Amino acid sequence: MTISVGLNRLQGISRASLFAGVGLLVLAACERSAEVSVEAPSDDAANHAVGAPPHWGYAGEAGPDNWGGLSEDYAACAIGSAQSPIDLTQPGLASDMALSVDYATGPLEIFNNGHTVQINFAPGSAMNNGEKDYALLQLHFHTPSEHTVDQVRFPLEAHFVHRADDGGLGVIGVLFEEGAHNDALNPVLATLPQEVSAPRKIDSVEFNPSSLLPQDLAAYRYSGSLTTPPCSEGVAWRVAANVQPVSRAQLSALRAVLGDNARPVQPLNHRTLTAPN
Ligand SMILES: [Zn+2]
Repeated sequence: MTISVGLNRLQGISRASLFAGVGLLVLAACERSAEVSVEAPSDDAANHAVGAPPHWGYAGEAGPDNWGGLSEDYAACAIGSAQSPIDLTQPGLASDMALSVDYATGPLEIFNNGHTVQINFAPGSAMNNGEKDYALLQLHFHTPSEHTVDQVRFPLEAHFVHRADDGGLGVIGVLFEEGAHNDALNPVLATLPQEVSAPRKIDSVEFNPSSLLPQDLAAYRYSGSLTTPPCSEGVAWRVAANVQPVSRAQLSALRAVLGDNARPVQPLNHRTLTAPN
């Protein structure tokens, strides 16, 4: 399906060979958005056989400035006009929508997809963003934050990715600032996969994702996109206005694995940013 087998594809292959046994997973991670990846790796291997989109990353030739040119499938990254993340500043409207979640506790399922560390969720965790109901699919992290507030970037951002019955995606973003130790991150840091890995369910570690959310879910609201290729638009974004703490040691541990995996902020263009309710 992919016509271009250019430099970036070759880079992907050479990177895969470097990783030897896990090479296929490195490629697999590049075959779809990290934002919505929930299937088993075997599906990725099957996709690879018929031609995978090129490797993408956060620096150099495969970095964010070039995502749109890496594949026709990534065109929205370059030509989209409603992209994420954005700078959260000067909201144009006051919010009239409440955000609520009903997340379940369950065994932690975590993996490193080569772009981020992701936690998958079984059915049963719900979110209502004031417009419709969504099911929680996965949660992952960016260091530093992708969204900024009045052009201030935070050291960490978590994205809670949800899907509605109609297929629409809704994401809650939570910003973290350096401060006190955050106990809610303990299960994640205790099981943090250092290398690219398949999803692993750890029955001995119970996790409820609501522990990472602020108590007050006042949130900025706007319509945006996935922040990773293919940068698909129509994503209902909520970014919590209340920032959570993370200690310096916790940040160091996360950064050591994630590196710099934040897409630069995108222009607001014609969109309306709504203030926290
Ligand atoms: Zn994300």
